[in-house]
Amino acid sequence: MTDTLQEAPTAVKPINHWIGGMQVAGRSGRTGPVYNPATGRQTGAVDFASADEVADAVAAAKAAFPAWRATSLSRRAEILFRVRETFHQHREDIARLLTAEHGKVLSDALGEVARGLEIVEFACGIPHLLKGGYTEQASTGIDVYSIRQPLGVVGGITPFNFPAMVPMWMFAPAIACGNTFVLKPSEKDPSASIYVAQLLHEAGVPDGVFNVVHGDKVAVDALLEHPDVAAISFVGSTPVAKYIYTTATAHGKRCQALAGAKNHMVVLPDADIDMAADAAVSAGYGSAGERCMAISMVVAVGHAAEPLIDAIKERIPKIKVGAGDEPGVEMGPLITREHRDRVASYIENAPAEGAKVVVDGRETTNGDGFFLNPTLIDETKPGMKVYDDEIFGPVLGVTRVDTYDEALKLVNESPFGNGTAIFTRDGGVARQFQFDAQAGMVGVNVPIPVPVAYYSFGGWKNSLFGDLHIYGTEGISFYTRGKVVTSRWPDPATSQVDLGFPQTR
Ligand code: NAD
Repeated sequence: MTDTLQEAPTAVKPINHWIGGMQVAGRSGRTGPVYNPATGRQTGAVDFASADEVADAVAAAKAAFPAWRATSLSRRAEILFRVRETFHQHREDIARLLTAEHGKVLSDALGEVARGLEIVEFACGIPHLLKGGYTEQASTGIDVYSIRQPLGVVGGITPFNFPAMVPMWMFAPAIACGNTFVLKPSEKDPSASIYVAQLLHEAGVPDGVFNVVHGDKVAVDALLEHPDVAAISFVGSTPVAKYIYTTATAHGKRCQALAGAKNHMVVLPDADIDMAADAAVSAGYGSAGERCMAISMVVAVGHAAEPLIDAIKERIPKIKVGAGDEPGVEMGPLITREHRDRVASYIENAPAEGAKVVVDGRETTNGDGFFLNPTLIDETKPGMKVYDDEIFGPVLGVTRVDTYDEALKLVNESPFGNGTAIFTRDGGVARQFQFDAQAGMVGVNVPIPVPVAYYSFGGWKNSLFGDLHIYGTEGISFYTRGKVVTSRWPDPATSQVDLGFPQTR
């Protein structure tokens, strides 16, 4: 979390909350700095909400709920179609905000917006998604049917690495289902959420249906503890996810908390080495390695190791690192100076742990920005911090094993279980891997297997706390609760007093 900023420099832009359909300036007196990671300069000061300000947002969402849940499905779908069009029309504006505060390159930012838009498109099908079941004549003259209803006010707490897409994973299905929403975005790159709020307003989403409060643990705790918040969706690091899950559920809320990751990519000796190297470099260094689906560990089986390391080494110097808004740049900076230094410390300590730094990314020529170049570390093993920890930067480790079984064991012994991938030409082995891998998302010759919008996203083990994955049909289940109606129309001829337990006839 960022420190409280006492005196913001004059050139920085204030970033306010969005409550009840308008921007609202913070009253707590606390703000946090927002940087352009490519220059290292502070560009914004984001308001940090107090518990009272969070309560204002929850109250606005609560007030908007009765009318929104009563709004017909066809009208809600119509509004969502307009949201889709508005986001699509302004996708480059959203992407530019992402590049300015997160640092990811513009093409990557546009990709983020496109993948978020897919969830909005999925949510446009809400009339179909909310269809229930109907059983006629379950008992004589009795019909039974199931419906799904919204929960009420729901909260979303999101990470810095996808400031547009991850909120869309949450609010699009949540509001489509008839809930109202309070978002607490990352305080490191908060501007996109306010711009998205304006676009939702422009598209006709009624005031109070979508609200944004910025801040730190104070705002998060206020959401977790508020009695009028029915559910919490969280995406972020594992220690915070655990805390969110425990606290939200202790306060009687439904919770899905998606957490950290360490994704292994197994490369078998029969794989196309060039294709595997392209995939490892793209998935390891894309977005500077700050994706929860990034490949951070390549597990090279048998004689795949030498040619694969050579092929990755050959590709690294060609990666253009720089400011995300410069044409042709492929990899931007890390999110903060502290994070860059933390990632660099893994490179520093790797030799003492017994690993071998093949390409060291610490020598950069990018001024005061938070840059680190692509790094390759060979001979990593379980027990080394560089192998065990989620590093979340452009550091690709290689672990050498002799057999497929050893590779599978490494994948399954990981405390995380977000994504994993296998590269091979052998369909039988790939199928066995898909069967055995202890992870929520598996790629076969695909390094970042983020599910399309009509499946659901989520990991296993320390990568998710809760029962339901996010977006797709599991997202619809998360944001609704079931009701079953048993109904009989009055028939005076069959009416009688019967104190026995109702039985079907
Ligand atoms: P983070 O856990 O530091 O922060 C996430 C959110 O929690 C932010 O809104 C932040 O303000 C809030 N927060 C931080 N510390 C808190 C505390 N002590 N108490 C209450 N709230 C707190 O995560 P981050 O650094 O923003 O994002 C990167 C992490 O997110 C990585 O670990 C990455 O793997 C993970 N991630 C996971 C997924 C997934 O789908 N599993 C997707 C994206 C990112």
